[in-house]
Amino acid sequence: MISAAEKLLKDIENRGWKGQIVPVNHLTDLREAILGAHAQGLFSEEFYREELTQFSFENPEALPGAKSIIVIAFPVPLHRTIFHWQGKRWPLRIPPTYVNYTATTEVVRTTLAVLLERDGYGVAKTKLPLKTLAVRSGLAEWGRNNICFVPGMGSFLQLVASFSDLPCLEDPWREPQLMERCDSCVACMRKCPTGAITRERVLLHAERCLTFHNERDVEIAFPPWIDSAWHNALVGCMNCQSICPENKAVKTWIEEIGEFSAEETALLMERTPFSQLPAEMLAKLRTLGINELQALPRNLAAILNRG
Ligand code: SF4
Ligand code: SF4
Repeated sequence: MISAAEKLLKDIENRGWKGQIVPVNHLTDLREAILGAHAQGLFSEEFYREELTQFSFENPEALPGAKSIIVIAFPVPLHRTIFHWQGKRWPLRIPPTYVNYTATTEVVRTTLAVLLERDGYGVAKTKLPLKTLAVRSGLAEWGRNNICFVPGMGSFLQLVASFSDLPCLEDPWREPQLMERCDSCVACMRKCPTGAITRERVLLHAERCLTFHNERDVEIAFPPWIDSAWHNALVGCMNCQSICPENKAVKTWIEEIGEFSAEETALLMERTPFSQLPAEMLAKLRTLGINELQALPRNLAAILNRG
């Protein structure tokens, strides 16, 4: 007879998603993965503080009997949105995961809750390092660029994890795995404009990655060593994903979303407070999953002002 865990994974797969279930005791391994790398000095203090201290490795209060962690990969496209500025049309990329991140997480969690409820199990939210979890669970593999790849999806995916009291009959936990293809490939290293990917270590030099800098608060200017010609996306960076052969089948999956007139673009460049933007423009921004100005004006200016 098929177990509840097997049935769940089948249902996830039937939706075009992929999933994996690991025992909850691996929370300690996840903590060790982050804290261990920090103790070895593999992250800058700035990056560690801003990006890696928000996790929680405790059993969830909302589900005291949690037995497992379920991690799901949901396929998502690359988006492109148009800005008009100084007589030119600027199609700007938004890498997978940014658009509709919260809504996608909600869809996956709600679906999971419904699927588990029919067998009498519950779910609770997690705050975990999702890429590390996906790789250690066997759902994904690391690329040399520290992006997570899932067979059939490449890196065009969003990860969502939940605690559950569903028992985990097998333990797929494993050591971190680099894709076999990376053994004979350095395409991402060559394409990375900042030198964040190196041969000497698997872990990215995150403090040199454009994504770290362009996701930061809008008040933090880009450091002077970043050449404005390197910016290639409204937020994040697509260079090492676009070049990766593992993304050959998905890299043309691009959805156009939103177009901003010259007047609207000017309002963003002027850092007009979100609450003062016209309603129509707010609606377009919200379609992009943008609910506050965040890093948008600085990132936009870095690209549009280079002419
Ligand atoms: S570009 Fe090559 S080295 Fe980089 S992640 Fe992809 S396969 Fe690995
Ligand atoms: S996202 Fe961009 S800056 Fe970061 S490692 Fe990849 S190519 Fe380099």
